Amino acid sequence: MTGQADRRLVLAGMGATLAAGTLWGRARAAEPTRRFGYAVVGLGSYATNQIMPRLAECEHARLTALVSGTPEKLERYGSEYGIPATHRYSYAQFDRIRDNPDIDIVYVILPNSMHAEYSIRAAQAGKHVMCEKPMAVSAAEAEAMIAACRQAGTKLMIGYRSHFEPYNLHAMEVARSGVLGPTRIITSEHGFYAQPNQWRLHRPLSGGGSLMDIGIYALNAARYLAGEEPVEVSAMEQTDKSDPRFATVEDRIDFHLRFPGGALASCVSSYNSNHNAYRVHGQGGWLRAEPATSYTGHQMWVHRDGETQQVRLPTPAKNQFVAQLDHLPEAIMAGTEPRASGEEGLRDMRLIEAIYQSAREGRAIKLTA
Ligand code: NAD
Repeated sequence: MTGQADRRLVLAGMGATLAAGTLWGRARAAEPTRRFGYAVVGLGSYATNQIMPRLAECEHARLTALVSGTPEKLERYGSEYGIPATHRYSYAQFDRIRDNPDIDIVYVILPNSMHAEYSIRAAQAGKHVMCEKPMAVSAAEAEAMIAACRQAGTKLMIGYRSHFEPYNLHAMEVARSGVLGPTRIITSEHGFYAQPNQWRLHRPLSGGGSLMDIGIYALNAARYLAGEEPVEVSAMEQTDKSDPRFATVEDRIDFHLRFPGGALASCVSSYNSNHNAYRVHGQGGWLRAEPATSYTGHQMWVHRDGETQQVRLPTPAKNQFVAQLDHLPEAIMAGTEPRASGEEGLRDMRLIEAIYQSAREGRAIKLTA
């Protein structure tokens, strides 16, 4: 391929192709389709502002039930979304979802320490599971979730929306295609200023600090940009314990990943500074994304042959939320593993545990496959 044609491919084509779903496959068009019913569990900020409004835009999904501990929320959102009283559940009534044929999938959008319990109970009720990131608060919990879904014969998917976002798909393709040369350095930074008095800062509910909540984006991106699994991690934590926000969780934690192909990733996770960016440096160029994993407004640049060009991808027919919500029904219909599977979530949980161990023990941790 010529340099020019090569560059055009990088800058215009591949992200769009990937966004259309060809990398991992999708439900065949000829298959009969229907709109699968989602029960949303936990009517907090992400559920009500991002997910519930997007279900109406889906091709293969719709909102059919709500689960909340707050009767006023069930009433308010039930009325707003036309969910009848028979399809509104308290946490105590949760297991009754088993008897509701309008519920195909349970979407768990609760504080992290509740993910495993509600995912497992959903599987035991015979429902497919979509669970928010982080998948759980330990690798052991993540393994139990996978086992429960396997035993029930239901699918498990994690809410890694960036796996459905065109710029991120483009970055994966560019980084892995070799057009920048072999990847040598990845930097991946994610952080925000955490306001006090929220469950994210309370370890029994969050399972940890910035790494569990926002640093997981830096970790997941480093892995999908590298296109392989790290073999070694090292980490350093900085937490001001006199700050009441950090009585039980960490603030900043920097970590490094060594990949078998020779790439190193340098990652930032912070509850005290704003970051949302990554870079991939090959021997012959670089790719930069900032904001990289935001809800909207992604920006990306590629530098090759001494020239920097901004990447501009067409607006996809489905935004990342809609594509993610439609993907699990597509996987169910096609009988395939979802793209952001439970195994994918488990890999992050194992790495998070190794990162914490490295910071605690002040040494690098070698990883087994
Ligand atoms: P939130 O605080 O806005 O909502 C949490 C919900 O859980 C609330 O409705 C709350 O009432 C309910 N809840 C039930 N039991 C609770 C308890 N014991 N303590 C506190 N709340 C309880 O949080 P959120 O931002 O919506 O986050 C929920 C989940 O979604 C988290 O796992 C988070 O990591 C994830 N999330 C993902 C994204 C993404 O982009 N994928 C974005 C935001 C949040």
